[in-house]
Amino acid sequence: MSRSTSVAVVGGGIGGLATALGLLRAGFDVRVYEQSRTLSQVGAGIQLAPNCTRLLRGLGVLPAVERVAFAPDAIEFRRWDDGRLLSETLLGAGIAATYGAPYLHVHRGDLVGVLADAVTADRIETERRCVGVTRDGAGARLRFADGGTAYADVVVGADGIRSVVRETLLGREDARFTGYLAYRGLVPAERVAALSLEPRCTVRLGPGAHFVHYFVSGGRLHNVVCVIEETSWTRESWTDPGDPDQLRAAFAGWHPVVGAIIDVLDEPLRWALFDRPPLPRWSSGPITLLGDACHPMLPYGAQGAAQAIEDAAVLATCLTEAAGRDIPAALVRYETIRRGRATRVQEMSRANGVRFHLPDGPDQQARDTAMASGFGISPEIDWLYGHDPLIAEQATS
Ligand SMILES: Cc1cc2nc3c(=O)[nH]c(=O)nc-3n(C[C@H](O)[C@H](O)[C@H](O)COP(=O)(O)OP(=O)(O)OC[C@H]3O[C@@H](n4cnc5c(N)ncnc54)[C@H](O)[C@@H]3O)c2cc1C
Repeated sequence: MSRSTSVAVVGGGIGGLATALGLLRAGFDVRVYEQSRTLSQVGAGIQLAPNCTRLLRGLGVLPAVERVAFAPDAIEFRRWDDGRLLSETLLGAGIAATYGAPYLHVHRGDLVGVLADAVTADRIETERRCVGVTRDGAGARLRFADGGTAYADVVVGADGIRSVVRETLLGREDARFTGYLAYRGLVPAERVAALSLEPRCTVRLGPGAHFVHYFVSGGRLHNVVCVIEETSWTRESWTDPGDPDQLRAAFAGWHPVVGAIIDVLDEPLRWALFDRPPLPRWSSGPITLLGDACHPMLPYGAQGAAQAIEDAAVLATCLTEAAGRDIPAALVRYETIRRGRATRVQEMSRANGVRFHLPDGPDQQARDTAMASGFGISPEIDWLYGHDPLIAEQATS
């Protein structure tokens, strides 16, 4: 019975494609509807912690992801001005042995490409912008901007922070500007070769700002994220070409390596960072939400994509176990398993924003002391990386 259940996934980002792949592997009849003409290569680097790469292995795509990724040897935190080391967590073989999966850095476009290849093009319809979803018998009907419609037994809204499916379920509520702007850019590795950068993720913490950089794409590109604070964002668009002079001014006085990296960033994009408070529910009847559509988060825990992939794993298991019998109950079960953890990661990411940007003074000193005593894997990281959502799912079945 479950083998013929049809599932419409709205959104062909990381969450939507991971969902489609998991459901296809489980024998569901899946179609992905993506608004863009091509699956997006936009975005820059993302970090994939073991809680995420373990699930990519389960989907059968980890070897392909490893071929386009970069395996860092550590995550380190440094002070903004003198570059003093505050904390270091070794990754590499050690973390893979501890958590049973590697820590990787990838370009978002590379990861989307691997997932889309595995889903296969005949399952993905591009230029299909969903404009509404309505209940139709036991299932739901999607409406598209091109005037077309599609029926499915299950609809998964993986359509990002501005989710139309979310709006259908919960009404219109604009996402909130968090007060953070991220400048993101990628630099060919040869342009930073003279800086002899370590093969690791470096996070530099300073008053009102932080600066993250690491290699992706097999080491061919260096990914740079520079986060600053801004009181308001009044533009319609969430991204703008970034002004290098504004960026340079924001990081004046920081360690010389920061200025040297900014100098080789050709066209950084400026992203306004938005989020939402945790939603009261994710599902209604045969319709549910996944990834940024239901739990957008600040990138300060490097877990947005990972949490979307955890959602995908639990959703596939709950729908498989329902075997087509009570889909609404299966979706409520999925949401019940996932909401607490996703909310905690949202809150952790938000709290990191405050911790990362402390002005120099007693609070910053207390933070640095705590970080120094937390060398190695902290209990919080253990909670994050050691989690297996499929075991959590078994515990409730
Ligand atoms: C600066 C920054 C750094 C980050 N770093 C990390 C990191 O290190 N690690 C990590 O795990 N995460 C990171 N993230 C977060 C991560 O990128 C997101 O959480 C993740 O991509 C969410 O995936 P998603 O599939 O839910 O949504 P999205 O990636 O937003 O995908 C949604 C898709 O739906 C499509 N769509 C939207 N509306 C419609 C519609 N109406 N009809 C059809 N299609 C539609 C969109 O075109 C898009 O393809 C970072 C984010 C930022 C901004």
